[in-house]
Amino acid sequence: MTQKDDALEYHRSAPPGKIEIATTKSTTTQRDLSLAYSPGVAWPCGEIEENPDDAYTYTARGNLVGVVSNGTAVLGLGDIGAAASKPVMEGKGVLFKRFADIDVFDVELDLEEPDAFVEAVAAMEPTFGGINLEDIAAPDCFTIEKRLRDRMNIPVFHDDQHGTAIISGAALLNAIELLGKDLADLEVTFAGAGAAAIATARFYVSLGVSRENVTMVDVDGILTTARAEAGDLDPYSREFARDVPDGDLADAMIGADVFVGLSVGGIVDKVMVRSMADDPILFAMANPDPEIGYEEAKAAREDDVIVATGRSDFPNQVNNVLGFPFIFRGALDARASKINEEMKIAAARALADLARQDVPDAVRKAYGDQPLQFGPEYVIPKPVDPRVLFEVVPAVAKAAIDSGVARREIDLETYREELEA
Ligand code: NAP
Ligand code: MG
Repeated sequence: MTQKDDALEYHRSAPPGKIEIATTKSTTTQRDLSLAYSPGVAWPCGEIEENPDDAYTYTARGNLVGVVSNGTAVLGLGDIGAAASKPVMEGKGVLFKRFADIDVFDVELDLEEPDAFVEAVAAMEPTFGGINLEDIAAPDCFTIEKRLRDRMNIPVFHDDQHGTAIISGAALLNAIELLGKDLADLEVTFAGAGAAAIATARFYVSLGVSRENVTMVDVDGILTTARAEAGDLDPYSREFARDVPDGDLADAMIGADVFVGLSVGGIVDKVMVRSMADDPILFAMANPDPEIGYEEAKAAREDDVIVATGRSDFPNQVNNVLGFPFIFRGALDARASKINEEMKIAAARALADLARQDVPDAVRKAYGDQPLQFGPEYVIPKPVDPRVLFEVVPAVAKAAIDSGVARREIDLETYREELEA
């Protein structure tokens, strides 16, 4: 059987797809049914009409996330449309459930036009505790997310932007710790100026990287102020236009401390890696093929480089599943109105701190007894590490409380114990 056969059979076997709805209350007797639906259901309706927050007491809203896409930038498949994106959105639901016990309705909207999409998602606010936007093409994804964040009183989070930013941000914090570098002094070069690259650059600036030290390269070369003035850049990539001569990716990598690849596979070679500064950091995160392979990047240098990729078969996998389930868990439990910068930074710091702790034997075994210990080959925790839940979630909830967006009091110590149990 090929992987294609396996995957089609996995999805096709009865019942088709990967999710179903389960009921959580008894439905055996006539009495049960008259409570679940008419006439009994009128009572919780009345409570919610009087106090909208009672939806969190009497319905599943508080644990329900909408995974919403228009199918315009699906995985590496491009604009395959809303209908074809459904297996991916169901899959995202599977991950939310598996890692953080969050329920998901996947919503595929046949709406490419941003205004119509924004209206449709905003109108769904009463249904959900949070909205995970997924696989929406740049630059529309920036406008759509901003408008929905401004308008809605529940968390709205475009995972393709912030997931990578947060997890690679954690890897960056640990890599500079190991290499003895300072965030503010780092020269950072990005390959790619799309959804993930712009969001990651913004997040690194939040963490302490100097905006003036960021060089971004798209398919036409370095984003320069000359290109911005010539009207060659959209408003989002203009944010990172730098006052330097025109050049290509090879030029932009000379002397860089950090390379962040969020573009396409195979565009970086060993010569370019050798041209970087001493003790460089190289995050080649294009999927499924990185900008340069893990082993090739390592081989290009005399053992002084820290490498991460999106690949599970090499050390330091930047995998979004380390982020969104736990960030939403914390946000939902604190009933946060937003996922703000403070919460994202708290998640990155908690992930970075966790990678510095000893790894339990069970996790080590799951990875074929690799010597998982804080160091160049292990700067981010592994996705199956159960500690991610009780390290990252309370940190996110605490940041929500401290930054004033939480709408529920949580005793953090008890909360952490509950997550750990
Ligand atoms: P996107 O919005 O389509 O952005 C892709 C960017 O790459 C565009 O700015 C494009 O430039 C640029 N690009 C294409 N070819 C290039 C080249 N030869 N040299 C320099 N830049 C080039 O896509 P995205 O959602 O940001 O994702 C980008 C990549 O990151 C994908 O490979 C995706 O799989 C990967 N990714 C990985 C993770 C992870 O966790 N590992 C998470 C998210 C994304 P133009 O604008 O000029 O076309
Ligand atoms: Mg995605």
